[in-house]
Amino acid sequence: MITTTKSAELFEKAKTYFPGGVNSPVRAFRSVGGNPLFIDKGKGSHIWDADGNEYIDYCCSWGPLILGHANDTVLNAVDKTMRNGTSFGAPTRLENELADLILSNNKFIEKLRFVSSGTEAVMSAIRLARGFTKRNKILKFEGCYHGHVDSLLVKAGSGLVTFGNSSSAGVPESFVNETITVPLHNKTAVEEAFKKYKNEIACIIIEPVPANNGLLLQGKEFLEFLREQCTANNTLLIFDEVISGFRLSFCGAAGLFNIKPDIITYGKIIGGGFPVGAYGASKEIMSCVSPEGNVYQAGTLSGNPVAMSAGIAQLTQCLEKDFYKNLEDKTNYLVEGITRINPFKLFKIFKLGSIFWIAFTEKESITSAEDIDANSMAYFKVLYHSLLESGIYLGPSGYEVGFLSNAHTKDDLDKTISAFETGLKKLS
Ligand SMILES: *Cc1c(COP(=O)(O)O)cnc(C)c1O
Repeated sequence: MITTTKSAELFEKAKTYFPGGVNSPVRAFRSVGGNPLFIDKGKGSHIWDADGNEYIDYCCSWGPLILGHANDTVLNAVDKTMRNGTSFGAPTRLENELADLILSNNKFIEKLRFVSSGTEAVMSAIRLARGFTKRNKILKFEGCYHGHVDSLLVKAGSGLVTFGNSSSAGVPESFVNETITVPLHNKTAVEEAFKKYKNEIACIIIEPVPANNGLLLQGKEFLEFLREQCTANNTLLIFDEVISGFRLSFCGAAGLFNIKPDIITYGKIIGGGFPVGAYGASKEIMSCVSPEGNVYQAGTLSGNPVAMSAGIAQLTQCLEKDFYKNLEDKTNYLVEGITRINPFKLFKIFKLGSIFWIAFTEKESITSAEDIDANSMAYFKVLYHSLLESGIYLGPSGYEVGFLSNAHTKDDLDKTISAFETGLKKLS
């Protein structure tokens, strides 16, 4: 048994400071049980907890750390920048540099705006879509997470096309009255929504590769369908690429599938481990944003120089030849290795690029939230704690996906495969 007494002590103390002892709910380990591990340090693909236990990390801060922890180039850039001051509230050349790096390698957007989180990027993108189209309603998919934006904290009603009900206390029903919720991978539902609310829908927002409620692969055809529907109805298509941006390809899912949304949101990887988000679109759409246009959006720490330099250092490495191919090869090696030692298919692994998801299911594919069996999470819990014992750290919930970084080595992957083998024995 690994000892985690120091983490447990820290957690007790943390509970006196923060609701549930954490500053973001899923960190609390509620869905797998037990106490969260407090992390002291990370290097490459490994992290060490407060008791000194070492783990191979597949959470990678929930996605941002595509180069692994404490990447030397990122650290050097951050160090150099911050010695000249950490924030000015005035423009810096670093904002231009990161924007140029992104825009000159991305044919889907022409201008962007930096913000400080994924939530903020999405919130601003929704406002922009409404401002540009002069329409109020927005359409989202059940099972997609877009940050804690009021109008998107919505759970589906009982019908195919419903106005959502607020899924969080503190969000008035009147705030979500303009949010239409439909199931993923369901063309009829989208068509019905457009029929019912003709000329009223400002935008459709989707995670093109939904990865916050399992990995609900939609496929290119469904996304193309959304593109066509949006164009036909003068509705903007927003790809929320906060996870998939710079992860599935440098241009995210838009690049992978070669589909042009009207607005794209970024977060996570874009900041090299610092709080950065962005939203981008055509020059025409972006011209609606203040001070050029009348859609207001601002931020004291937006385009923060330290965060910009981390983003530049990280994304420059992502642009190296074969970066994404190598990452995918590693992921395939891991997934194939685990599949090999799992002959009775107790669980399946769904994957795309360097994102993977373990699902205890008999289904060949899972494309919508309602296909996930909540009871299967009991198995994940057993596997999760067995993996921790073997030195493997995943995000603490069966609804969360895993991420590889380019710092993961073949040795890490082999150790992970044998840890799964041990875990499987505990399950059967
Ligand atoms: C993480 C995430 C967000 C929210 O980003 P934060 O930086 O946590 O605010 C929004 N959309 C998607 C798709 C995400 O994965």
